[in-house]
Amino acid sequence: MISIPKEIQLQKATLDFLQSEQKMWIGGQQVLSQSGNTFPTLNPASGEKLANIPLANQADVDAAVRAARQAFEGAWSTKMNPAKRSRLIWKLADLMQRDLQILMELETLDNGKPLDKAKYDVLGSINHFRYYAGWATKIEGSTIPVKPGSLIYVRREPLGVVGLIVPWNFPLMMAAWKLAPALACGNCCILKPAEQTSLTALYLGRLIQEAGFPEGVVNVVTGPGLPTGDAISHHMDIDKVSFTGSTVVGRKIMEASAKSNLKKVSLELGGKSPNVVFADADLEAVKKSMLWSSFYNTGQECTLGSRIYIQRSVFEQLISHLQESAGALSLGNGLLSPDLGPLISEQQLNRVVGYIDQGLQEGAELLMGGKRCEGELESGYFLPPTIFKYREDNLKIVQEEIFGPVVVATAFDDYDEIVQRANDCRYGLAAAVWTNDISKAHRFAHDVKAGTVWINGYDLFDPAVPFGGYKESGIGREMGKSAIDLFTQEKAVWVNL
Ligand code: NAD
Repeated sequence: MISIPKEIQLQKATLDFLQSEQKMWIGGQQVLSQSGNTFPTLNPASGEKLANIPLANQADVDAAVRAARQAFEGAWSTKMNPAKRSRLIWKLADLMQRDLQILMELETLDNGKPLDKAKYDVLGSINHFRYYAGWATKIEGSTIPVKPGSLIYVRREPLGVVGLIVPWNFPLMMAAWKLAPALACGNCCILKPAEQTSLTALYLGRLIQEAGFPEGVVNVVTGPGLPTGDAISHHMDIDKVSFTGSTVVGRKIMEASAKSNLKKVSLELGGKSPNVVFADADLEAVKKSMLWSSFYNTGQECTLGSRIYIQRSVFEQLISHLQESAGALSLGNGLLSPDLGPLISEQQLNRVVGYIDQGLQEGAELLMGGKRCEGELESGYFLPPTIFKYREDNLKIVQEEIFGPVVVATAFDDYDEIVQRANDCRYGLAAAVWTNDISKAHRFAHDVKAGTVWINGYDLFDPAVPFGGYKESGIGREMGKSAIDLFTQEKAVWVNL
């Protein structure tokens, strides 16, 4: 029995789902793991167990791949009219909309995020499926005029069976970012959610069945990196792995591809994004944005502006405002819709606190936060917003991704200095610049090495706009037309007329 705050009434369907035996989806059937092994999924707001999740090993992954291969060669891929694929994806979005509240509640319980933020994630995921439902009928090839007497045309074909490995910070949304384009292109999928947050993926499996996708088109297997993720990345009959997660695991995915069948790999990895404010910016707009670009999702978001650079003349003003507004944020059980929920796990909390200790040892100045919450929040994995002020860019807390509610802030003097400092990092996922000087804004956007640049804004996304990383932040671009390229391959056909 899970404990729920007394002011909250969960949907009966949410409770029923939690109380049912959790099963994976393989070949359109709900199955336990072949070994019968399970692992617990916990509510990070309380540390309580929510459910036991099947632990898939090699044999389960093999079964999922067989089912996916059969579906690919059979009812799906190029054998199905793309308009029908489109309708199925749209229908899935409709079912998600119908079960919006259930999906929100499951995401909040499993991940800890506030319910209103979980709503944003589910709506964003629905939007993503709808966007790619439109693409299914618009994946075109080309003809190339090489010489008279010949016809050369290029087909864009699906890759086959694709492994989709996602992280815990936006569980449903990251699954949607991969599933939607993969399905629109005609691939069959093995989805593996992160072991901390399997519930919405398992519920999605149910909706995929209800929508009427042929058996085996989407398989959901659950389990940790070892053995489950590892079995996917090394599999000899998986054609591609699309991975979102840490840079450390991203390297392992590439290595597994090299050691197995050279499957295609796309990676969305870590970030340490610079949020750069010039003194001539609209400071009121900066103040509003910086709170959330620093601490949204309790800092567990790869694009957040975790390196803050402020031009010296306005540094103190902006940092004191950030301190004040961050100090006013409420923390608590996500079901009560506080501003911030807990970190995902005890392990993540300890990792983040380890970075804070390191920052103190390296001589950075702690302006606020830094210690695990006590009292009534003690049983969950709560850490308050934490701000460091620093001078030297070579500190570990400045260079490495912390993935918690911790930002580092420093002052800068001029343009050339800030471009050099913003780029002095092995990551290149995103960056923001705030200024009312239009030339400076665009110069910065061109000079900074990042896959996404926001000018006078932060964390803006749309399914139509490509997203991915420079440098060690990844390989490939998801979203928009770019994701169509990621999930298809070109075939050149030569006709001798
Ligand atoms: P993680 O790398 O530990 O795990 C991600 C996924 O990989 C999980 O499903 C996990 O089970 C699986 N995995 C772990 N070891 C594996 C292995 N050896 N083989 C195959 N799969 C394995 O990352 P996380 O801690 O879940 O997520 C946080 C990280 O994700 C952060 O670094 C964050 O920046 C990154 N992230 C990036 C983006 C992006 O779009 N660039 C988006 C969200 C999160």
